[in-house]
Amino acid sequence: MKIKIGYFYLFTLNFILFSSLFSIPKMTIVLVIDQFAYSYIEKLNKNFNYALKDLLENGVNITNAHHPHGTPSTATGHTALSTGVFAKDHGIINNSWFTLSGKKIKCDDDNSKKTLVFGKGNNLQSYGKSAKNVLRTNITNKFVQKYPNYKTYSISLKSRAAIGMSGKKGKPIWFDKNTGEFTSSKAFFDQKPDWIANFNKNYNINNRIKNYTWSLFYPAESKYYNFDFINFHKETNYKHVQDNKTLINDKTLKNYYKSISDAPNYPDFIKTPLANKMILDFSQNCIDNNFKNKPILLWISLSPLDHLGHIYGPDSIETTDMIYHLDKQIQEFMQFLNKKIGEENILFVLTADHGIKRNVEISQRMGFDAHRIDIHKLTKEINSFIKNKYNIKNILYKIKTSQCYLDKKIKNLSEKTKIQIIKDIKKLF
Ligand SMILES: [Zn+2]
Repeated sequence: MKIKIGYFYLFTLNFILFSSLFSIPKMTIVLVIDQFAYSYIEKLNKNFNYALKDLLENGVNITNAHHPHGTPSTATGHTALSTGVFAKDHGIINNSWFTLSGKKIKCDDDNSKKTLVFGKGNNLQSYGKSAKNVLRTNITNKFVQKYPNYKTYSISLKSRAAIGMSGKKGKPIWFDKNTGEFTSSKAFFDQKPDWIANFNKNYNINNRIKNYTWSLFYPAESKYYNFDFINFHKETNYKHVQDNKTLINDKTLKNYYKSISDAPNYPDFIKTPLANKMILDFSQNCIDNNFKNKPILLWISLSPLDHLGHIYGPDSIETTDMIYHLDKQIQEFMQFLNKKIGEENILFVLTADHGIKRNVEISQRMGFDAHRIDIHKLTKEINSFIKNKYNIKNILYKIKTSQCYLDKKIKNLSEKTKIQIIKDIKKLF
């Protein structure tokens, strides 16, 4: 029986996967498109012609799907997908946060020597990555416990996404933007597997970038790009788009490539359809090397739409066109899977870690009461209000996305004052 799931409700994943384990599929793929808001499906579904159309027409499409926590960030979302619980319970409250000593740490940082990241060749990096901050078990851990002889991998451009999906017992693999190679850490592998090292050696990503131009998937004047605000940033010199440039039909990537030396970082490449292709090619390589007719649980997270959306916004021609490319790229990946493993042996799940809202300036033009919050100004206002009312200086340490970090001195106050201060701060937002 063919099983496809188009878009699922977070807390049903456990049920769907484990209820199907009595006849465990040979291949379970959970494909997460980073920042793939449901609104994209509502807006573009008439224009899907490949995998997304197939999933919507022939899969189980769950439309009332939510991540009901307050932090729409990548690490939080991926960890929620794998654990099935809220951020307050799985512990990954953001991509990074401040410790009690005021130090900013990333969610997957680990300073133990047992978690060092693999560098080029046999070298190790000077920093570690692990899932030590993930406080709950997840689907991958349960899978490993129940089926120790079966394999599982979690693949992404971002370590925080790969580790969010793998948890402590899985095998996360991510793209290291400083070396231009796929890697992992000693927390998950004793050494870098040969099949990863061989892919790094043979894929020649730098050469592919040099020869790549991002072309629109459909003709520029066609119905596929006939949406309000699709060229908003070009028409308005939108200041949040770097140099008002587009990566489409542009030589930016090639010119950029000429100037990079031994620390590539790839800031433009990771915002292109080529980066999605690389992740899917790596995933195929993973399956070719590891599928031995025994079940595999494979998580794949496609990060480029998120990198792109942060710059251009969800109404842009860039994000719209990347989704059209994804429609076809995912179909090609599914065709590879069907040929190799047989469609009847595959459970295929497609979902997202969080959405995206439209640019504030576009919302304003549409008549919404939208505005940007100046975090520095707001911090000053809150601190000045608290100083005047309670004579306590700098009670607010930082505002990071939707989270307020209060100074340690709040611990010395009475419970009543503490509660009143927090109430006051909430009112000032
Ligand atoms: Zn994300």
